Amino acid sequence: MANEARPSPYVIGTVSGLPAGLRVLGSEAVWKTLERVPDPEIPVLSIVDLGIVRGVEWRGDELVVTVTPTYSGCPATELIMSDIGRALESAGFAKHRLEIRLSPTWTTDWIAADAQARLADYGVAPPGAKTAATTHLIDATALSRRDKGPSVRCPRCGSLHTRELSRFGSTPCKAQYRCDDCLEPFDYFKPH
Ligand SMILES: [Zn+2]
Repeated sequence: MANEARPSPYVIGTVSGLPAGLRVLGSEAVWKTLERVPDPEIPVLSIVDLGIVRGVEWRGDELVVTVTPTYSGCPATELIMSDIGRALESAGFAKHRLEIRLSPTWTTDWIAADAQARLADYGVAPPGAKTAATTHLIDATALSRRDKGPSVRCPRCGSLHTRELSRFGSTPCKAQYRCDDCLEPFDYFKPH
């Protein structure tokens, strides 16, 4: 993956007293390390794919990594933070600090575009699927359904004839759905 294609939240930090080239290399190495940290709930996505790493910054000789959890109180946050800490340490970034930033709140827009497709392959409906389906609200078949709110698109067959079975799927961040057409159960990654 080309580094140039990275989205805006990436912050290139500064290291005082180091040549410019090294400065960039240092941040690149940090990002590469973070890209190998899987999200505990969706292992096909890294925490960078998910967009929860908001910044990598050098303050003096200390590396500061800023993280915005998918929602405040997400039970996976502590696990994610310790995973990040472990990954940074084993990559040689011993002096680091992790900061949680709750505002602005995480949005599904922060999920990398290519990661949305991997999410669907994994059998989890991408969070954007719900928004994309809102136009079907005026559909008569949708109106006759018991479920209120927009449909979630089935990640396997693409059908919008899906229903929520449980507000909580395999993890608290996901809801359990089933497709009425292909009958496949799937997880919907809830946007918060
Ligand atoms: Zn289906």
